[in-house]
Amino acid sequence: MKKINSIGYGGKVIFIGILFAFIIPIGIMLIPYKCIPLDVISKISFLIGILILILFTIWLMIELRQDKRINAHYEKNRDKKILIQSGQFECQACGNQHVKAEDKSCSVCGIVFK
Ligand SMILES: [Zn+2]
Repeated sequence: MKKINSIGYGGKVIFIGILFAFIIPIGIMLIPYKCIPLDVISKISFLIGILILILFTIWLMIELRQDKRINAHYEKNRDKKILIQSGQFECQACGNQHVKAEDKSCSVCGIVFK
């Protein structure tokens, strides 16, 4: 599954959810004129808003779980060096790309490779 990153649109989704769930129904409530169609619109708007907020909460929980998995993976591989295109190695703790195959530790961050 592709990595979810809601930082760019999270605020907008929450705003739209709150708009439908609360702002529109409260706005309709404040209209002195009462009729059944307005009441129905208010209820539908509330349900759409709540649905958006619930679905977005689930979406955020999936994103959080992905973040935890990536962090765990990173922590597990921190003290390793991986071969990169230039034929040298990259320190997984600090990103130093000038690590040689025979290096036992990173010259930048000092981590000892396993
Ligand atoms: Zn390093």
